Amino acid sequence: MLDTHKTNPTCPSCHKAANVRKHGKARSGLPRYFCNHCQKAFQNQYIYIAYQRQSADIPTR
Ligand SMILES: [Zn+2]
Repeated sequence: MLDTHKTNPTCPSCHKAANVRKHGKARSGLPRYFCNHCQKAFQNQYIYIAYQRQSADIPTR
């Protein structure tokens, strides 16, 4: 079962949230995430930017 109601961050590399897991916190205090698909760790800051660009591309109804 997938928890689709959970707001997982999107991976900046593959742009998928399904493989993203929490990966502790960075020194700056930002939550870190790890994508099992890309085997990469990233911070929430990147996701925020990616989300901004994504919502700009998709018009809100
Ligand atoms: Zn990924």
